[in-house]
Amino acid sequence: MRKKLVAGNWKMNMTKEEAVSFFETVSARIKDRAIVFAPFTLLATLSELANEHLEVGAQNMYFEESGAFTGEISADMLLDFDIVNVVLGHSERRGIFKESDDEVHQKLCVALEKKMNPIVCVGESLETREAGKAEVFVKSQVEAAFRAIGADDAEKVVVAYEPIWAIGTGKTASSADAERMCAAIREVLRASYGDVAERISILYGGSVKPSNIDELMACENIDGALVGGASLKTDSFVEMVEIASKYNR
Ligand code: PEP
Repeated sequence: MRKKLVAGNWKMNMTKEEAVSFFETVSARIKDRAIVFAPFTLLATLSELANEHLEVGAQNMYFEESGAFTGEISADMLLDFDIVNVVLGHSERRGIFKESDDEVHQKLCVALEKKMNPIVCVGESLETREAGKAEVFVKSQVEAAFRAIGADDAEKVVVAYEPIWAIGTGKTASSADAERMCAAIREVLRASYGDVAERISILYGGSVKPSNIDELMACENIDGALVGGASLKTDSFVEMVEIASKYNR
């Protein structure tokens, strides 16, 4: 059985003091597993506070081991601080920082080689959606990310379907739409991995908040949420974890 997972993406937010206070408050209140993806500057501090309920992860990493890559962070650097969770190919990385499908794939290969727990993000723009090409586009992103990855490794990957037009905009995909896209992603995974696809978690992301998470979690192919804005406040984060937890019992 796939468990519902709530993962917070803090993006470029949170000072050390705010992050420590958030971590202590939330850890004391949640009973299921949740993850917070924090900026690099907070990882050393938060890795000391991580526990069986609240884990910490990085929002990105580079695929090279070391060298002249100013501003980048390697998998080994994250592992040095016991950071095994990592988000790859977030739409802000793909859009603003021009990360290609191939780079996301290379990052995924390194994460798997290093026995990390990667979340790979995919999702279409409004233009692609309006052109009726959302499903084809997202399927191609999934295929590109998983290219030549074997079933044993694929099972360790979490996919996050995040339509770009729903990120930080307050517009959420309807639960029916989100479910249809997540089911389409599972279909692609099933074509490569057969029954293993049933064990791969697929999260939805895009303006998820306490008021809409329940109907999203009720969907068969949505195994959790990747949450930006609403993950910055302790009360809303705890509320979302509690709502998702209902489905794990
Ligand atoms: C995100 O950052 O992945 C995200 C989904 O953001 P928001 O929840 O703010 O739309």
